[in-house]
Amino acid sequence: MPSKQLRNPARTPVIRTSKNVNPETLLPSPVFSDPALIVGAGGVALMFGYIATQWWAAARRHAFESQRSRLELAALGKKIELLNLKAQAAPEVAWNGYRKFTVARKVEECEDTYSFYLTPHNGRRLPPFKPGQYLTFEFKFPNEPKPLVRCYSLSDGSISDTHYRVTIKRYVRADGSPGAVSNHFADQVKEGDIVDVKAPSGKFYLDVEMDRPVVLISGGIGITPMLAMARVLAHTRDPREIYFFFGCRNSADHMFRDEVIELQKKNPNMRLHICYSRPFEGDAAGTNFNHQSRVTVDLLKQVLPSSNYEYYLCGPGPFMDSLVSGLYEWGVPKKDVKFEAFGPATVSTKPKEPAGKPDKESQSLVEIEFARTGKKLMWDPTVANLLDFAEANGITTIDAGCRSGGCGSCKVAIKDGHVEYIGEPGDEPEEGSCLACICRPNGRMVLDA
Ligand SMILES: Cc1cc2nc3c(=O)[nH]c(=O)nc-3n(C[C@H](O)[C@H](O)[C@H](O)COP(=O)(O)OP(=O)(O)OC[C@H]3O[C@@H](n4cnc5c(N)ncnc54)[C@H](O)[C@@H]3O)c2cc1C
Repeated sequence: MPSKQLRNPARTPVIRTSKNVNPETLLPSPVFSDPALIVGAGGVALMFGYIATQWWAAARRHAFESQRSRLELAALGKKIELLNLKAQAAPEVAWNGYRKFTVARKVEECEDTYSFYLTPHNGRRLPPFKPGQYLTFEFKFPNEPKPLVRCYSLSDGSISDTHYRVTIKRYVRADGSPGAVSNHFADQVKEGDIVDVKAPSGKFYLDVEMDRPVVLISGGIGITPMLAMARVLAHTRDPREIYFFFGCRNSADHMFRDEVIELQKKNPNMRLHICYSRPFEGDAAGTNFNHQSRVTVDLLKQVLPSSNYEYYLCGPGPFMDSLVSGLYEWGVPKKDVKFEAFGPATVSTKPKEPAGKPDKESQSLVEIEFARTGKKLMWDPTVANLLDFAEANGITTIDAGCRSGGCGSCKVAIKDGHVEYIGEPGDEPEEGSCLACICRPNGRMVLDA
């Protein structure tokens, strides 16, 4: 058979030679030599260009909007996830009194600061808590006549129902001596130990259901409640605008550095501003910290687009004093400034003045009767609260704990009369009782003390 017939015609390559080319097509087209047509074609090209740009912008807008909707949906999904988590945990209600917890892990976060992971000794699930709340611990030391009661904020978000975490910094008293409980935690408490803990409480917490933009501001160990708030915001991928300011001296004090960076990665809405007041030479600006200063209202004014945020603050006394008053001066309404003090030194920053507070002269005429002790004394209006007044007069029947309305140790029954609160109680005492550490008398009183 001739080989020609075996060829598949579709596969036969077409060999182009100069003979296939029409020489006319190599000449310039007469269209491009007419200026009117060139202008016309240019106009059409411009029009197409404009339409293409508009289309591209619309497509980008659409892509952006869909991305945003996806993020919002994801955030909603995360919120539902969190609510489900809470709902699952709901059957485990908070307990009354003290419950035994095992120290499952002890981790050094930075110099003199340790985190303690606590699991319930009975192995049962834990109730959820609100980010910002604290636990109350009781220690019975052989050399102390009374148990020592201290509060420590939960530094984790309320994500886990198997453990709680608190983070404790060694406290040094004004005279240089070590604080009893914080140093006991740092030096003595070890993994496997058992501690007595009251259920989470406190009114300083972030409302996770709200979508108002927030500014979390903390100094030193005051980071603990803010960290719990930031963790919940990150975990739920909360779409609201979040600013996180943290101030410390330098990298030696910079606790939770990696953890906070991880949270920011989880929730890009969170903008981090780390301030070092006294950086080491090796502390790199822009890497370890963003601002070489304290956290001040001037810095907030530089960084925040406006003052219209909800502010949460926790830190040392002077830090809170200047920031809280600075925010008020900046025009932030008092209802938008929420803060917590870690001890009596900062309680005075509470801007609350009791309504209709009697003047100093009439207050000094108020008689306080301590019924159990059998003492009748004239109230001293220069004293901060009923607990200090009792202690100053040798009355030892009122216990003291946190001294900021948190732990409930100083609860005392009122037999007659009324009090005015100068601070926010962690848990409302029952009718007919008061928390002596954050109360002043409102007229003559008889106390069961
Ligand atoms: C709501 C809340 C949350 C807290 N969260 C944390 C936290 O997350 N991490 C942390 O490290 N700390 C936290 N603290 C502080 C903590 O409770 C202790 O106050 C701190 O650890 C010092 O206790 P200490 O026993 O070591 O010191 P100590 O000096 O033995 O005791 C300090 C106690 O004495 C009281 N006190 C101090 N000075 C005086 C005085 N002049 N007169 C009378 N009483 C005084 C204080 O109120 C405090 O209760 C928190 C406090 C509160 C109220």
